[in-house]
Amino acid sequence: MSSNKYIEQSPEIQNQRNSIRHSSLNQSVHEFSAYKEKMQDLMLPNVEFIEPQDFKKQNECIVCAIEFTQTNRQHHCRMCGSSCCGQCSYKTINKNRVCDICYMKASQLAAEKKRNKFIQSLKDSAKKLKRHIEQAERRKQELQNERDAQQDKSQIDLRVLEKETEDYRLKYSQKTQDKCQYEQQVLDLKLKMSELNTLKEQIHLECQEKEQEIRAYDTNLYLREQELNDKKTQLQRLKQQKEELENMSNKIEQNPEIIEEIIIPEPVQMLQQEKKQQEMYNTNIDIEEIMFGNTNGSKESSTLIKTEQAQQQPQKQNSTKPSQPKQNKDEDDDEEKYKCNIF
Ligand SMILES: [Zn+2]
Ligand SMILES: [Zn+2]
Repeated sequence: MSSNKYIEQSPEIQNQRNSIRHSSLNQSVHEFSAYKEKMQDLMLPNVEFIEPQDFKKQNECIVCAIEFTQTNRQHHCRMCGSSCCGQCSYKTINKNRVCDICYMKASQLAAEKKRNKFIQSLKDSAKKLKRHIEQAERRKQELQNERDAQQDKSQIDLRVLEKETEDYRLKYSQKTQDKCQYEQQVLDLKLKMSELNTLKEQIHLECQEKEQEIRAYDTNLYLREQELNDKKTQLQRLKQQKEELENMSNKIEQNPEIIEEIIIPEPVQMLQQEKKQQEMYNTNIDIEEIMFGNTNGSKESSTLIKTEQAQQQPQKQNSTKPSQPKQNKDEDDDEEKYKCNIF
């Protein structure tokens, strides 16, 4: 296929192709020479070059000692000014042609400078590093000191805290003991409180009973006072009757003839009145029995009242002296006082 294709191509196209190949080859050569120049050219600062009037006139190359001819032409080194062939002087420094000897010397010098500079920079770096290391050591020492101080402080704080903890534990145990004691005391107090409440209820009940008794005694006292008033009225009437009787007896002594004209119904009336009062009194005793019927104490009091009434009854029948009801009242008062003492 390729041979057929080659045959088919016209000479015009073939020329075009050849010219393209030629130009690309030239370009490659040019690039290579530029690269070579770049690689062989040494850039050095502060270098002084010789002017052309100072070039030396020599017959052979100073490097390879070859004689100069029409084809092997003479060149000059811009550093030492010596004559040299093209092969021994194609290298350049700062774009100036130099011989291989000068190039080697310059490159060695440059390399040495570079090395010295590098060594100097290394030394500087080492110094800097040393300074950094010293600073780091100092900082480390400071940190260690701080750490030691903090550790000491921590140890002290820890001991203080342990001591405080121990104190608090001791206090806590004491407080716990106190709390137990207080709880026990509270329980005792509650027990006492309940006992006191029971006692209070008992006392309240007793108070109610005693108040009932007092009310009963008050009623009784009221009845006794009424009775006393009745007795006083009766005594007053008896006194009047006695005076009338005395007047009458005086009249009879003075004038015995009028005895048949006088009718004395009063003693009979008086006896009837006393009987009525006795009945009333018995009914009063029944009321008191009904009031005090349930309790022992009230029974005792009711019996006391009965015995007192039994003592009173004979006094009523021959009650002519005015001082007797008063005595009865005194007895009542004594009885009241006695009952109050019982309460
Ligand atoms: Zn040479
Ligand atoms: Zn030279």
